[in-house]
Amino acid sequence: MLRFKSLGSGSAGNGTVVEAQHGGHTTRLLVDCGFGQKQLDQRLALAGLQASQIDAIFITHEHGDHVGCAPQWALRHRIPVWMSHGTQAAIGPHDWDGLLHIARDTSAIDVGGLQLTPFTVPHDAREPLQLCCRSGDAQLGILTDLGHATPHVLQQLMGCQAMLLECNHDTELLAASRYPAFLKQRVGGMYGHLANQAAAEIAQALVDGGLRHIMAAHLSEQNNRPELALAALAAAVGCSGLTLGVAEAATGTDWLAVAV
Ligand SMILES: [Zn+2]
Ligand SMILES: [Zn+2]
Repeated sequence: MLRFKSLGSGSAGNGTVVEAQHGGHTTRLLVDCGFGQKQLDQRLALAGLQASQIDAIFITHEHGDHVGCAPQWALRHRIPVWMSHGTQAAIGPHDWDGLLHIARDTSAIDVGGLQLTPFTVPHDAREPLQLCCRSGDAQLGILTDLGHATPHVLQQLMGCQAMLLECNHDTELLAASRYPAFLKQRVGGMYGHLANQAAAEIAQALVDGGLRHIMAAHLSEQNNRPELALAALAAAVGCSGLTLGVAEAATGTDWLAVAV
């Protein structure tokens, strides 16, 4: 069985727990660590968890809303950490005390009962990776912080039954916002963040592969609204019976089981 829970999602901080139960053993992965240590502990407690129950951490890229307290927290609790070479270089020199492992595009990682496949995405970071998580036949895609979908991204996610999918902004709200021109260009650019419509097109492309649940994630506080993200996704997937939800910045999501 595979399930996941966002601990919070947005420019103020991101973290998702992915849990696999297999043969009486439970494996838990924390994808991104974009909070302070106290915040992270509190958010885990709300999920019924503590640090000692996290088996591994995967950091997608070096932006502060994803790295957060990762170096200190991982060291304090002796939890192994995976990230790309570029992400590690961008974070800067740090004594990981043997806990750091390098992740590479499409190079599989086994963590207990979880099989991870990181893949490269177009984003303005050194070497960003997003993630496909498998346990048995259940498959979860985590896809945030990318400017656009590439054939490579779609290929990696084909077959996922559930996704945490960035719906960062509504293009009209972004255009009309008080963001300075350079920031509008960055966010809306090819290496920025996914617009609702772009996310909807990804969802549409993956429906035939078995996608059934989407949690919209990384919504901009200023340039998006949950109902706009949900409407864009719903329009794209039509009557395919998908369940849709939104990961909140403060509270994330409930646990969601990935049904095969
Ligand atoms: Zn981010
Ligand atoms: Zn980012």
